[in-house]
Amino acid sequence: MSDKKNWNDHEGTVLHSVDGFDVIDCKLCGFKHIIPIPSEDELRKIYKHDYHVKDKPLMLEHQLEDREWLDSINDARLETLEKILGRAGSFLDIGSGNGFLLSQAKNRGWTVKGIEPSDKAAEYSYSQGLDVDCAVFDQECANRLEKFDVVHLGDVMEHVPSPSAILNLCNHVLRSGGLIAIGVPNEYTPVQKILNEDMDVRPWWIAPPHHLNYFDKESLEGLLSRHGFTPCHSEVSFPMELFLLMGKNYLDDPKLGRDFHAMRKQLELNLTKSGNRAFLDKLYGCFAEAGIGRTMLVIAQKNFEQE
Ligand SMILES: [Zn+2]
Repeated sequence: MSDKKNWNDHEGTVLHSVDGFDVIDCKLCGFKHIIPIPSEDELRKIYKHDYHVKDKPLMLEHQLEDREWLDSINDARLETLEKILGRAGSFLDIGSGNGFLLSQAKNRGWTVKGIEPSDKAAEYSYSQGLDVDCAVFDQECANRLEKFDVVHLGDVMEHVPSPSAILNLCNHVLRSGGLIAIGVPNEYTPVQKILNEDMDVRPWWIAPPHHLNYFDKESLEGLLSRHGFTPCHSEVSFPMELFLLMGKNYLDDPKLGRDFHAMRKQLELNLTKSGNRAFLDKLYGCFAEAGIGRTMLVIAQKNFEQE
């Protein structure tokens, strides 16, 4: 039996312990996260200077190499949002990175704005003619902003000390009936559990202090519901950990990881470019049904009665 631990008001069963942090299934928050939770100041330092420069030096290079594939994913994502909203509108991307999604949205007729803490990524976005603030999304930042039709957070919620505080800020900058779209890693999946518990593979998905929070569909949708949103769409990306089940360990071999990434990219581009996007969605819907998929996207609508 695993131990229970608590830190401030956060309490839950310890699932894993990595690099001095414990992942708990937190009763207070309703999702899994590490304790102790690093302070805003500690995190600000990591993101302002370290992340894109030291830990992810290849990010822009890889993203440019992936451009065609990223554009097809972003296009599908925007198309889904346009379908639910009934039109293109105003779009706020929090953690807009190098601005690829913003560029794509702009091309499709959206009015776009980005918030990005990394100065290097923000600089690249300016060079692409995008309206991006180099800032952390906090109360002060939210107060400066207009109301938007859509707020998008890709690869943000796993990094923040308080997802609840972020959702409150999103509520503040979203118009009534507006949409929030959240992309996060899908964690503690059945395949991850099989690999870790039954096959002695290390819990590679746990990455403190960069990854603080570990969501699955149920915990993310639950969190959204408790913050005045109604989930209306979800989807997953290719379950990369299937390669581990096939006996190919890419965890300590970035080159092999890139090869497998290239394979799933090709699968998706082949189906999309040949006009079979509907089959791709159906196939990935089956992965979602099985609870697997490396990342997930959940879209939810801000409830009308709040204003
Ligand atoms: Zn908690």
